[in-house]
Parts: sequence; C-alpha cells; structure tokens
Amino acid sequence: TVQRPSEVQESRLLLPIVAEEQPIMEAILLNPVVIICGETGSGKTTQVPQFLYEAGFGMPGSDNPGMIGVTQPRRVAAMSMASRVAHELSLTSSKVSYQIRYDGTVSPDTSIKFMTDGVLLRELATDFLLTKYSVIIIDEAHERSINTDILIGVLSRVLKLREDMWKDGKDGAKPLRLVIMSATLRVSDFAENKALFPLPPPIINVAARQHPVTIHFSRRTSSDYVNEAIRKVGKIHTRLPPGGILVFLTGQNEINGVCRRLEGMFGKKALSNRNLKTAVISPTDTISHVALNQADIEAEEMELGFDGLEEIPSGDEGDEFDVDDLESDDDGRALDEELDLIAAETESFVHIVPLYSLLPSDKQMKVFATPPPNSRLVVVSTNIAETSLTIPGIRYVVDCGRAKERCYDISSGMQSFQVTWVSKASAAQRAGRAGRTGSGHCYRLYSSALFEHHFDKFTQPEILRTPIEGIVLQMKSMHIDVVANFPFPTSPDRNMLRKAEKLLIMLGALGSPTAGLVAGASAVGGGITALGKSMALFPLHPRFSRMLVSGQQHGCLPYVIAVVAALAVGDPFIHEEGLATDDDGDDSSSEAVRARRKAYFQTMATHSSLGNSISDVFKILSVVGAYEYAGGGHKFCADHFVRLKMMEEIHKLRSQISNIIEASFLGTSAMFTPQLPPPSDLQLKSLRQLMTSAFIDQVAIRKDLVDQNTESGTQYSMAKGIPYRAMGIDEDVFLHPSSVLASASPPQYIIYTEVVRTSRAWLKGLTMINPS
Ligand code: ADP
Ligand code: MG
Repeated sequence: TVQRPSEVQESRLLLPIVAEEQPIMEAILLNPVVIICGETGSGKTTQVPQFLYEAGFGMPGSDNPGMIGVTQPRRVAAMSMASRVAHELSLTSSKVSYQIRYDGTVSPDTSIKFMTDGVLLRELATDFLLTKYSVIIIDEAHERSINTDILIGVLSRVLKLREDMWKDGKDGAKPLRLVIMSATLRVSDFAENKALFPLPPPIINVAARQHPVTIHFSRRTSSDYVNEAIRKVGKIHTRLPPGGILVFLTGQNEINGVCRRLEGMFGKKALSNRNLKTAVISPTDTISHVALNQADIEAEEMELGFDGLEEIPSGDEGDEFDVDDLESDDDGRALDEELDLIAAETESFVHIVPLYSLLPSDKQMKVFATPPPNSRLVVVSTNIAETSLTIPGIRYVVDCGRAKERCYDISSGMQSFQVTWVSKASAAQRAGRAGRTGSGHCYRLYSSALFEHHFDKFTQPEILRTPIEGIVLQMKSMHIDVVANFPFPTSPDRNMLRKAEKLLIMLGALGSPTAGLVAGASAVGGGITALGKSMALFPLHPRFSRMLVSGQQHGCLPYVIAVVAALAVGDPFIHEEGLATDDDGDDSSSEAVRARRKAYFQTMATHSSLGNSISDVFKILSVVGAYEYAGGGHKFCADHFVRLKMMEEIHKLRSQISNIIEASFLGTSAMFTPQLPPPSDLQLKSLRQLMTSAFIDQVAIRKDLVDQNTESGTQYSMAKGIPYRAMGIDEDVFLHPSSVLASASPPQYIIYTEVVRTSRAWLKGLTMINPS
C-alpha cells in the first residue's frame, strides 16, 4: 500500500535499521514501552515512523487509529524529518506533518506528526491522555533535554491510564505505546529506573555500520578556534582527497562569518577569479576578529527555548578560553595571506552550507542536496549535526570542541548561554560523522591533554544544570502536585526542588501549605493557583511571568513586556571596559579614545536619567524605547553602545510575549506596538513595584546598616567599594560598576537580578527600593 520513489527504495535498503523492521515491530506490538538504540544515521528517525505507518498505526478504523507522534528536541529536525518522511512515503505534508510552536502543517488527516518536545508537553496540559495518538516516539533521548526527560516521566503515567481505560473497555479507548530512541547505548536511566517503568522495557540495538575514523588532535589548544577552523578547512580542501567536510562551531554569527570567509577564499567565484588571473584577491570579508570571537547570544537558542518550557536564556558575554593559548598570535590578515597561498594549490571549489536552527528551512535542506560538480561540500554547523541530522558524504570533521550551552548560576538563579567544552561522548559523536560512508578523519582543534583532563565523560542531563522553577510550574499546571514523587529519569536535586517550590509560593503561583489548613481544607498544599495557571502560559522564568500577569495597572503592560523581554535577553549595553577593544581598532589615537569615552559616558547618563537613576532596568527600557523610535539599525547601536543582536532579540521577544498575551486570558490592549511613549512617573512607580515583588527574595542591604542595626547608618557619597549583604550569600557583595546606582550615593536597600562572581561578588540589574 505504500509507494516509495525508486531512489528512496534503494537508499533505504542500505540503512541498518531496515533489516530490523520485524523485531522492532514485534517488540512494539508486544510491549507498551520499547527502547531503540542506534548509531546516528542508522535510520531511526526516518524509518521507525514508517514501520509503524505500514503496520497500520495512524490509520482511522484500524486497531491503532491515533496519530504517530514523534518528538524532536529541535525545530529544524522536526521540520526536515517531516518533509523527508513525507517524501519517502510519497505522502503530502498534511498527512506527514510537523508542528512547532508558531508554525505547522497538521491537518485532520495527519497520520505522522513530528513536533518539538515542548509542543507535546503543552498538549499534555490540555489533553493529558493524549487521545489523538496511538504511539509516541521520543527521539534523541540520549540528549537528555529537560523536556524529553519530563515527557518520558509523564508518559509513563499516561500509558498506565490509557491501559487501564482500555482494559475497562471505556468507550473505544485504545492503549498508547511509547518508543524511546537514542543514538547511544547509555539508556540505563530509562531502562533500569523502576519508578519510571516497573517492568524493564526491551532494548533493541541496531547494529552500527561505522567505518574507522582517524582522530587528529591539535598540538596546542588555541582560543582562536574560529580562525583555526578556517585554516584547517583550507588545508583539507586543497591537500586531501575528495569528501565532504563538516565543521562544528558554536553559533550562528560564527558560522556565517566562517562561511563568508571560506566562500571568499575557496568559493566558485574565488576560483574563477584566480583562474582568470584578473582581479587581485581582496582580503575577503571584514568581519573583525573580535566579532567572531565574541560569544554573542544566539537568537536560535532563544527560539528553541520559546518552543519548549525552558526559560528564555539571558544573554551573556560567554567565556574566553585561554587554556594553552600559544598559537593564536596570527591575526586575521596573516591568515588571509596564508589562505591565499593555500588556495592557489587547488582547482576545485567549495560548496558551503551553513546549518543552525534559525536558518530558514529551505536553506537547511541544502545540506541534503548533491553539491555541484567539481566542488567539495563544506557544512558549517552548530551541534545540530551531532546527532539530529545526518549529512551525506562527509569524510572530514573539524571539531572546535565547544558548544553553546545553557548555564545556570545557582546563587543568582539566573541563566545564560556560554560557550563551554563539550563532553567526550559528544566529541565521539562528532567524530563519528566522518565515518558514515567510508573511513574518515576528524580534526580536533584542541590538544589531547585538554581532552583527557578537561572534558567530562558525558554531558550532564539538562535537568541538573538548569533552573527548574519553570518546569515545576509547568508540571503543577498538569496537576502533578507532588513533584518530588515524579518519576524523573534523573531526579533534580532535592534542594533545588524545594527552592523552586518556595519561590513559586512566594510569587503566588502555588498555594502555600498552611493556607489549606487555615481554611480547614486538606493539608496538601502547593497546588497551582489561578495566578500560577496564567503564569504557566509564558515560557519564561516565573519571576518574569509574574510581572506580566500582574502588570496591568496604569497602562503599564507594554512597558512590563519591554522590561521582561530585556531582562530575559540580557543587558544589551557594552560596558566601559569593552570600549577600547570593541570597535574598529584602527582608530586608537588617544584623542579618538577620549572622544569615544566621552560619548559613552554621555550616552549612559542620558539613558540612566529615566526615572532618575534608580534602576538599571529603566536604563535598558530607555534604550529600548530610543531604539524603536530610531527604527533600530547598526548606527543607532554604535551610537548608543548597545549590541544590535540583543536589541533585535529584545524586539522579537516583545512581539512574541505580546502575542501570547493577546491570544490568552489577558486579551487586553497588549497589541504589539514597538514604539512606546516615555513612561509616566506613575508607570515607573508601578514597574518598580513589580520588579520588587518579583525579586523580593533578592534584596541586598548596605552592610553598615546590618552591622550597626541602626536606621541612619554612615553617610557615603559614592556606592563604589561599599559592601552590601544579601540573603543566602555568605560574603560581602558589591554594586557592579556598570550599574546606574554605582556612581551615586549608596542606597540602603536594593533588589538585584543577578550575581556575578569575579574577584568579588557583584550585583547586577539593580533597582533601588527606598529612594530617599
Ligand atoms: P538516525 O535518526 O538514526 O540518525 P536518520 O533516519 O535521520 O538516522 O537518517 C537516515 C538516513 O537518511 C541518513 O543517511 C540521512 O542522510 C538520510 N536523510 C535524512 N534526511 C534526508 C533528506 N532530507 N534528504 C536526503 N537524505 C536524508
Ligand atoms: Mg535521528
């Protein structure tokens, strides 16, 4: 009954998993839960849904009429896999569909539905029994994303409920099946977890068909991995036999920069120019060294976060790596000259394809297209290509060894995206990409010593390294009341759980246990409140959701949205210390530096003046307002010392939050208008109250007041160097020099949104509580 294009027929037969169709289907039909482990590229994602489809799953009127649901941690994968499977089965995109947060092709006759894991989690909140599905495939379970972990926990219960209903013969109820798929054999957290699955599910291992990959470490580890990657690709291209090159980098900006430079050096145009011996090859692109190295925060992760239940990451500068940094003395220009020489050696050109989540999907599909004749495929990717997408024809892997990861600062409760070393397991996966079609080579842009001593064995499950307030709130909104008893594949830290519940009670999202007692009701507290239910609509940190939900007085909402978006994306200002290096370095005469510093301080003073320098948040609100009035753009950002990318993200997030509000309970005049008139004093006052109640547990008190226990305290004229004390932090803390409060007389009480630890513990994102 299934029609496949002939080229698909052929390539399918080469996939190891196709040989296992029968045992896989038998296991699925005989067991409620089955685990499938198979090397990346073995065919799990594209074939297992087809096995199910051919066995009648997702067909109305059959034994298993409900849809085949497949979850993916990433949007790209959900979209591209849906279209691939539709193609393989010669079916339409309404029959084999995808659904991501704001987009999808699902229709009433959808049989196979690919979706992000966040989408399925949200469906559970409205249809806990998942009645529309007959089987759920949780893909990429080895990644241990928080959403995947929670889904597996919730589904273990849904399976039981569906089975009971079916056994009781409840109106047409059918059982639900669960298939967990992993690219690694490390599945004991699922398979041997008795709380999760009392009967251990069968594990099917798909034989690997992997060719040997030779690993080459760098002698030393350079912090300038971007240029190292370019150099390596150049050498491979000109000196080594044909075969695609896959480069792992950390983010969109980096990837685009590298693609432009490679194109300029080794692209088709560069080759024909060189052959014509006409134009002098110009030093390609002018992406500065600095811009490439800066770990700007990525809109792509923000998007990802917005799809799921995770909070929106806060922007951060990211880490700098200076381990063994001995090789990075070449600047971009020296590299260009070197590449120019290398490029002269070759007669073929490179066909370059970038790959990251925010790339439009038609561009993403380019990785699967056959490269033009006389060219070598070069894919420059984030860790998307590590296990989610298998690119054909790759023979060389260049691995920078890093990835952008969500990091959580436990003391501040804030999170950020930082470039960190990947795990040994990830590095092995990356290397494996070179051995799909034949033997291959992996070039690691770091030393073997670094790998041995600084790389973790495995990536920690996300639930252990992210704040869980948001997820706890989501779970409560699914009526999972005793979160501590939830069958997590890996349980979060008990203290973190307790802390999360405490915060949610403080924010009014959960009822406090005593309230029930007072009312004479049951002693079981901690249930979600009406306020909490509204808060759960936002995939933001609950502190921010709380501000949005109660931010309606005095026409404040548009300002609250702007403030929340800015806080979630992060402080967009370039700080004083970044001034000297952050710009077109040529202009370094002391005259120019002085002028620039002067302009900087003037601009900072202008934005700080909103609300009379009582809050860093107002300073950001001021620049967000000015940015929208100016119509955005590079020039505005340069003149106002803010990062364009972050300003763009704030803009986008404002519109997304407004959409959620518009589409939900609040439904008021939240309609997104980017330009905001300056807030009134009354509005500023409300904003400050909202900030205070959202961060009331993050108060710092001037130390002299704590020590002397008096009201007046000492008189200071500058906050610089004045110690404060903050709850839960056992050392003196200081106002960060970039704060608008740091250069005035030190306030008695402040709330802070972040603690950053360098030589001292610095408080950031400050708001004065009692301006005297
Ligand atoms: P797994 O999930 O086990 O990693 P997949 O099912 O994703 O494996 O991939 C199986 C094969 O299908 C791979 O060889 C991959 O290159 C190929 N493939 C996947 N998507 C496409 C596509 N859009 N076009 C061409 N080939 C594809
Ligand atoms: Mg897959």
